[in-house]
Order: sequence, then structure tokens, then C-alpha cells
Amino acid sequence: MTNRKSSLTGYYKETNEELWLWDDIPELDMEVGYKVEALLYYEQSPFQEISIVDTKGFGRMLVLDGTPQVTTKDGFIYNEMITHIAMTTHNEPKRVAMIGGGDCGPSREALKYESVGQIDVVEIDQRVVDVCRAWMTKEGSHEREGCIRMIYRDGYKWIQEQKKNLDVLLVDRSDPYGPATSLYKQQFYQYVYNSLTDDGIVVFQSGSPYYNQSIFRNTVQSLSKLFPIVHPYLCTIPTFPGGIWSFVIASKKWDPLEADLSHLQWQDTKYIDPETFKASFVLPSYIKNILHGK
Ligand code: SAM
Repeated sequence: MTNRKSSLTGYYKETNEELWLWDDIPELDMEVGYKVEALLYYEQSPFQEISIVDTKGFGRMLVLDGTPQVTTKDGFIYNEMITHIAMTTHNEPKRVAMIGGGDCGPSREALKYESVGQIDVVEIDQRVVDVCRAWMTKEGSHEREGCIRMIYRDGYKWIQEQKKNLDVLLVDRSDPYGPATSLYKQQFYQYVYNSLTDDGIVVFQSGSPYYNQSIFRNTVQSLSKLFPIVHPYLCTIPTFPGGIWSFVIASKKWDPLEADLSHLQWQDTKYIDPETFKASFVLPSYIKNILHGK
């Protein structure tokens, strides 16, 4: 996988007095541009370049090494879709953890399930969380915020030490360069498998099925070597290139296709409901072909 060039001037470019963010998609030799209304914040942390911008279309945006991560206008879609499918599929998720924190949106969704007393969020870069708290989602904006326990560590190292005790793990990883590279190794998938209880479930974000075909395919293939139940699923996130985004759920016992949807906590969700839950597993033929390398 390409090693992303890290430089503020590399992906923010001024054209005719307008500032644009250019997100590089190395697999297809292309870039996607976002007009920036204001560059509000920038820093180089020990792990990556963190910036916050305001955009017309998507509101405020967290950008890591030049790649949009989450926005105030459509971030709810990603947060709901990485979280609720696993949380509903498991009969009673109690021990829940997340690798990759950012603005911690998925952990707030997970706390809608009463069986969860606490969620561990393992984030390698504390600066991302601090910057998000200052500029994106203010601390204390959720009534159960106190149930989020932050662990500032490399998720690859943390997962190795877990002893088969997680019911649900959400892997909210960034693209496979910089600090997240290790979260794409086959050994990482094995460590994840080992950390889950006999009926444990994991979800990985797996990129655009079109723009990041090898990530999507490799995630499904790697998990299929370990878990009896593996399903890719899709949602539509306007911010991200191409709009269509993928996740992969892998489970030791519970099958999301047979989930009891009365467990789904969708009272105040804006994307997921019982219908979109079921529909997300329907893959168009061209995406099935991508999965099979055709
Ligand atoms: N959806 C997120 C949000 O709500 O802000 C964006 C999170 S972003 C996809 C992924 C996060 O994973 C980043 O905050 C990044 O610092 C973190 N990360 C990258 N590599 C990591 C690693 N090896 N261990 C733990 N966290 C990592």
C-alpha cells in the first residue's frame, strides 16, 4: 500500500484565491477535491497531520493526513452503521471496545444499548481526540459520556494482550498507511479473533468497495479464514469518494442476517432502522464481482 506523502501544502491547494482539499486515491490514480471555506486548525502530531476545516457541503470536517474522516453533517451515517449492526446482532453485548477513536462517535452509539456499562476506546493519538473535543463534538455532549474509557495506545499492541473477553469490537481504523498500517495485517485479524468470546462479533470499516477494492476484498478474505460467519455490508456516505462505503462484520455465533431487530436502538438514529439494517447486506452484482476479484 502506498505511503501517503504527509504535507499540509501537498493536499491543501489554493486555486484562484479558493482553498481546496485534495484527497488522493492512489489505487485509481485520482484525487477528489473539497472546497474549504476555512482552515480552522492544523497540527503535526507525533503520528499524523491533524486539521479541522469548514466546508459548504459537509459542515465541519476532521482531516487526517489529507483524508476526510468525519463531518458534522453526515458523520452520523458512519457512526450508526459501524455500530448498530453488531450491537443488535449480539444477544447481550456487555464488554465492548473500539479501536480508533477520532471524535468517538461510534462509542456514543454503542452506549445506547443498556447492557453496555462501559466502552473502552483505544486510540493511538490522543491529539486527535483532544482536537475533536475542541472543534467537533464537545466533551459532555452525551449523557453517558462518562462510560467512555479512553486508552491511549496502539490498538495492535493492545489487542494482543486481551484475553478472550470482548463481546463486540468495532475497528474504526483509518486507511492503511501511517499509524493504521498494522491494523490491516493478517496477524491483527488473528489477535482480534483471540480477543473475542465464543459468541463475539467484530466490525471493520473496509473502505470504498470501488475505490479501495483490495482493502475491501482483503478484509473479507482475511476474516473468512478465521470466522464461520462473515458478511460485507454497505451504506452511502456523501462525504466519502464515490459515496458507497463498506464494512465487514465477522461473528463466531450470531448471524446478522437472522438478528432480532427488536433489539435495534433506532429511536433517534437518522440512517439505520430495521429496513436499512436488512438492506445494507444486499450487494449489487458488480460489488459481488469485485469481491471475487472479477
Ligand atoms: N470515524 C472516526 C470519527 O468518528 O472521528 C474517525 C476515526 S479515524 C477513521 C481512525 C482513528 O484511528 C484516528 O483517530 C487514528 O488516530 C486512529 N488510529 C490509527 N491507527 C491506530 C492504531 N494503530 N491504534 C489505535 N488507533 C489508531
